[in-house]
Amino acid sequence: MDVDIVCVGFGPATAGFLTTLSKQPVNADGTPAVESTTTPGMPPQVLCYERADDIGFGVSGVVTKARALRVTFPDLDQAQIPMAAPVGEEKVLYLLDPIGASRRSATLRAADAMIRTFKWALPVEHDALNLPWTPSFLHKEGGLILSMGQFMQWVGAQVQSTGTVQIWPGTPVSQALIEKNKVVGVRLLDQGVDKKGQPADGFTPGMDIRAALTVVADGPVGPIGQQLDAHFGLPEGHHTRDWAVGMKFVVDLPEDTPLKPGTVLHTFGFPEPEIFGFFYVHPDRVASLGIFVPSWFDSPMRTAYRQLQHWMLHPYLWRYLKGGKLRSWGAKTLGESGRRGEPHLVGDGYARVGEGSGSTNVLTGSGVDEAWATGAQLAEAVLELLKARKPFTKQNLDEAYVNRRRASWVEKEAIAAEKSRDGFQKGVVRGMIGMALAGLTNGKLSLSGDPLPPWKRIPSIEEYYRGRVSPEEIAKLHAECQARNSSLHGALMEKAGWPAIPYDGQLLMSHQDALLMGGKVQATPGYADHVEFLNPELCEKCGVKICIEACSGQAITPGNGGVPNFDREKCIHCGACLWNCAQPLPDNPERTNIAFRAGTGGLHSAEN
Ligand SMILES: Cc1cc2nc3c(=O)[nH]c(=O)nc-3n(C[C@H](O)[C@H](O)[C@H](O)COP(=O)(O)OP(=O)(O)OC[C@H]3O[C@@H](n4cnc5c(N)ncnc54)[C@H](O)[C@@H]3O)c2cc1C
Ligand code: SF4
Ligand code: SF4
Repeated sequence: MDVDIVCVGFGPATAGFLTTLSKQPVNADGTPAVESTTTPGMPPQVLCYERADDIGFGVSGVVTKARALRVTFPDLDQAQIPMAAPVGEEKVLYLLDPIGASRRSATLRAADAMIRTFKWALPVEHDALNLPWTPSFLHKEGGLILSMGQFMQWVGAQVQSTGTVQIWPGTPVSQALIEKNKVVGVRLLDQGVDKKGQPADGFTPGMDIRAALTVVADGPVGPIGQQLDAHFGLPEGHHTRDWAVGMKFVVDLPEDTPLKPGTVLHTFGFPEPEIFGFFYVHPDRVASLGIFVPSWFDSPMRTAYRQLQHWMLHPYLWRYLKGGKLRSWGAKTLGESGRRGEPHLVGDGYARVGEGSGSTNVLTGSGVDEAWATGAQLAEAVLELLKARKPFTKQNLDEAYVNRRRASWVEKEAIAAEKSRDGFQKGVVRGMIGMALAGLTNGKLSLSGDPLPPWKRIPSIEEYYRGRVSPEEIAKLHAECQARNSSLHGALMEKAGWPAIPYDGQLLMSHQDALLMGGKVQATPGYADHVEFLNPELCEKCGVKICIEACSGQAITPGNGGVPNFDREKCIHCGACLWNCAQPLPDNPERTNIAFRAGTGGLHSAEN
C-alpha cells in the first residue's frame, strides 16, 4: 500500500503531530490546502500504527505544565478530559527510612540524624521532611494532572473525527523499510507464527506500507528507533545509557481522604535513596502514584513492584492510602539521556519525534509536553514542505523540522538539563546538588559523572549484600527460589531487613494477583515472542540475572540450564529488560543480551 505519511506508535509525540497536521490540510471551501503525493487532488493520506491493543494503553504519570498542549488547544477545557485536574498544591518530600533497611551513605545517615534531632524546628511529619523551598524548575504551577490513557483516548477521538487520519491499534510495526539509506515506509508484524516467528496456522506476512515520510515515534524502547540507531548509528558522543523504570498504580483513595484534586507530591529518599516517587490526585478521589527506579541504582535487586509496595507503606503516604483500592497498574521505561541520547533526528524519508528522539527533560521531570511539542513542530514542518511541494529529504527535513526544534523552548531547556543528573553517577547527595546547580544556573554549572551501561555497574548479589546476607545464605535462597521457579529479590530483601508486605487483597497484593487484577494483561495468540535472549551461552554463565529480578510482569523466570524463560502472556511491554541485563553483546557493548522487538498485547487499561 502507498500512502503519504506513516507513523509508528501513538503516544503524545504522534498525538501532537497528528493533531497539528489534521487541523490544517483542508481549506475552508473543502479543497485540500496541501495535496497528497500518492492520490493527487486529495488531502495527504496519513496512517498511524500503534502496537498496543487499543489507543491509550500507554503508561505515564502525568503532571505537566501543558505548554505545548495549550498551544495546540488554545481553548483547552480540562473538564472535557476524564481524570484531568488543574495542578494545585505541590510538595517535595524527603522520606526518612522508618525501617532501617535501606542502603544509605554515611552522609545521608548523618543528614537523617540531624533531621530527626531538629524535627521540632523543621517541617517534619510522619517521617518525612517537607522541603520548605523548591526551585522553580521543579514546579508545574498552572499545569494539569492527567491520566495518559484517558488523555490519549480523548485526543485519538478528536484526531480521527477529522477524517484525515487513520489510527490502527493492535498493529505493531516490525521494521522500517530502508532502501539505499532512505526510509521508504514500514513493514507490519507477521501474524500466524509460532513463538520463534516461524509460519504456523493462519500465517499472514506483515504488509508493507510505502510512504513518502515515516514518522518514528515509538518511544524509548521502540524497535524501529532501535533499528534506525543500528543502521545509521548515533551522532558522535551520543548514547542512551540513562533510563529509568517507572511503575505506577491507579488507586481509589479512601472515602474520607483529605487530599484535594490537583495535589502533587514528589518524594525521594525511600525505599532506597535513589528511588523517586510521585503521587498525583485526580478528581473523584482517584490518585496516580508510583516510583522511578533509575539506571544509577546500583542494585541487582531492581524490582520496581516490590520497591513500590515499600514506598506506599511509608508512614507519610500510607496514612493517605490505607483503605484504598487498586484500579489499575502498569510500568514503562523512560529514556533519560535527553539531548545526549538524541539520534539522527531526520534522514531521507524519515523523522523522529518524542522520547525516542531524546526529548524528555530530566531536570524538569517532564516528557509529555516535550514529546507533544516535537510532534507539533514536525507537523508544521511537513505542512510547509507539502505546500512548497518539496520532497521529504534529509536536507529539507533538517531545515523545516530540526531548525524549528533547535529554536524552541524544548532545545533551550534540554541544554540546561543535559548534564544535570550526571552527579547521581557518584551518589544521591552529589546528584541532588548537581541537579540544583544545573537548574539554578540554566545548565552552566553541574557536577560531573560518567553514565555507565548496567553491565559495567551492577555489582554481584554477594557484593551488594556483603555484611548483610552471607554468601552461604544467598546460595541457599537462590536454590530455594530456583526450585520454586521464582525470582530472588523478595526473599533476599526480607533477609536484609525489609518486612514482608502485609497483603490486604485490595491495594497490597502479590505481583501475580496484580497481573490478574489491576494490570489486565493480555497477549493475542499467533505472534512471535518479542523478548529474546540473544546468546544463550551468556545467560548460562551469568550470575546476577537481573532480567529476572527486574521484570515488571514476572514474565521472565528462571529457566533450565541458566537461560531464563519468557512468558508473553505476562509481559506488560515496559521494556525494562532491554536495559536490565548484566551482559553486553560481544559485538556492541552499548547493547545487552536481550532483544526487545515489536510485539502485540500487554496492558489493557486506559487509566494509566
Ligand atoms: C510511570 C511514568 C510516569 C511518568 N510521569 C510523567 C509526568 O508526570 N509528566 C511527564 O511529562 N512525563 C511523564 N512520564 C514520561 C512520559 O510518559 C513520556 O515522556 C512520554 O510518554 C513520551 O511520549 P512519546 O510519544 O515519545 O512515547 P511513548 O509514550 O512511549 O509512546 C510510544 C508509542 O509507540 C508505541 N509503539 C512502540 N513500538 C511500536 C511498534 N513497533 N509499532 C507500533 N507502535 C509502537 C507504544 O506502544 C507507544 O504507545 C512518565 C513516564 C512513566 C513511565
Ligand atoms: S538476559 Fe542478561 S541478565 Fe538475563 S540471564 Fe541472560 S545475560 Fe543474564
Ligand atoms: S519481559 Fe515484558 S514485563 Fe518483563 S521487563 Fe521485559 S518488557 Fe517488561
